[in-house]
Amino acid sequence: MPHQNQHKIADTANPKINNIVIVGGGTAGWMTAALLIKTLGKSLNITLIESDNIGTIGVGEASIPPIVNFNSAIGIDEKTFIKETQATIKLGIEFTDWGQHNDSYMHAFGSIGKKFAFCDFHHFWLKEQQQNNAMPVNAHKSFWDYSLNYQAAKQNKFAPIHNIPNTNLPGIAHAYHFDAGLYAKFIQKHAMSMGVKRIEGKVIQVNQHHDTGFIKSLVLANGEQITGDLFIDCSGLSALLIEKTLNTGFEDYSHWLPCDRAIAVPCEKITPIEPYTRSSAHAAGWQWRIPLQHRTGNGLVYSSKHLSDEQAKAQLLNNLDGKPLGEPRVISFKTGRRRKQWHNNVIAIGLSSGFFEPLESTNIHLIQTAAIRLLKFFPHNGIEQAAVDEFNRQAKSELEAIRDFIIMHYKLNNRGDSEFWRTCQRMQVPPSLANKIALFKKTGNVFCKPDDLFTEIAWQQVMIGQGIIPEDYHALADTLSEEQLSDLMTSLKTLITRTVEKLPSHDDFLP
Ligand SMILES: Cc1cc2nc3c(=O)[nH]c(=O)nc-3n(C[C@H](O)[C@H](O)[C@H](O)COP(=O)(O)OP(=O)(O)OC[C@H]3O[C@@H](n4cnc5c(N)ncnc54)[C@H](O)[C@@H]3O)c2cc1C
Repeated sequence: MPHQNQHKIADTANPKINNIVIVGGGTAGWMTAALLIKTLGKSLNITLIESDNIGTIGVGEASIPPIVNFNSAIGIDEKTFIKETQATIKLGIEFTDWGQHNDSYMHAFGSIGKKFAFCDFHHFWLKEQQQNNAMPVNAHKSFWDYSLNYQAAKQNKFAPIHNIPNTNLPGIAHAYHFDAGLYAKFIQKHAMSMGVKRIEGKVIQVNQHHDTGFIKSLVLANGEQITGDLFIDCSGLSALLIEKTLNTGFEDYSHWLPCDRAIAVPCEKITPIEPYTRSSAHAAGWQWRIPLQHRTGNGLVYSSKHLSDEQAKAQLLNNLDGKPLGEPRVISFKTGRRRKQWHNNVIAIGLSSGFFEPLESTNIHLIQTAAIRLLKFFPHNGIEQAAVDEFNRQAKSELEAIRDFIIMHYKLNNRGDSEFWRTCQRMQVPPSLANKIALFKKTGNVFCKPDDLFTEIAWQQVMIGQGIIPEDYHALADTLSEEQLSDLMTSLKTLITRTVEKLPSHDDFLP
């Protein structure tokens, strides 16, 4: 049984970390390699091993706004990126049929209305709705009158504006849709141009130190042996190092997130190209639609207990906006997280570290945050157990907040037309989520941790969009007279309408 010292836990005579070995050349491997070489490249040797025979998962085409900063941190020029990956702009995700049938709402990025001290804008909106007796008929719709992102998205407009002109109100928050295959090539070329060494080959054996269990070297199918000080497991769902070698264990979330399959197929492009992802609920799951410059990505995420692969294929092919451009491909997955993202001298990043279904496009984001966390904790002078523990604690906290946010979409469905959705309505959700929903229903308040990915505004949109209209609003909304409130709402709406009118079309923005 390997043992670890309490403090410095690398057992070699020289615990310094100079040689990094990344296993896996998917999005996770190359994004991590790019960040490390860009920041620490002067003091590290970075080798990435990937197997052309195994290949990558080949999906993952929708992102969320923090990717803009990540790309810029690793030195990627936005225009070149958009051109080379056939990318489009993403301003949010439209959820269709998740609440009632024929109803939709958007989780739009960015802010809504205006920022107030002590309470959020939606309290003023709630007060105005009550003042106008707008509840409960179609109550939620008008919330998005105050979202610049939503209004631009629905009118196919975009320009990267940081503020609404002549105000201190924030502008548009954007992310991208991109071709997963082209993105992988793009990011690989970029990382290699900065000095990452690539080795093509299949890892067939992992050698560990007898006493500590630390990984010493990897053996490739051609017999080559690769040694390293720190190993980054980006081997995808196979989790070659973190699980197959170190057996860190998996925390399964599938009792809350019942979909375990996806079937994906591209189809002909749509025009105009809409700057948002669409997620349409079906009888036993949901379908994504991701518009790219040259084609549209589609996929059905479903529960294999409720839908066979054949039924899923038929449903997907019946719901495309254009001619399919290939054979649908089934991908199986299990939702959950690796119990330790960092163990010994292995750090898992990407699908090897856990998986959330792509409902809120969180997986590529989690690659970025894990790579950034690794950079912040970089153990150049040896691995300290305290650092490992804190790294794992932060990763768990981040994942649990995202887990709750995704579960909420299922729990708050208003469909009841199939066993799949009825089971989701009845399921016991984590207490952290149950408390958030209960608090919002009663008071309109929702509170997030400062480093949570999804902010209060994201939670409000999904809860309001799926039919929760809070019973109360914050006392500060009563400090405005009826007339002042009405003036405030009208002026915000007018500002947003005028701003969107002046924006160029999304198609014009694209190359
Ligand atoms: C259906 C579906 C839809 C998704 N949609 C989105 C989305 O819209 N947005 C989003 O953010 N995320 C999405 N994701 C997740 C996203 O695809 C992944 O997070 C991302 O592609 C990273 O994958 P990866 O690099 O971890 O693994 P992979 O792409 O699987 O790469 C694994 C790498 O490891 C290598 N490898 C494995 N074993 C060995 C070995 N023995 N020797 C050598 N090399 C080896 C492989 O060759 C490959 O290079 C989706 C996932 C699925 C399943």
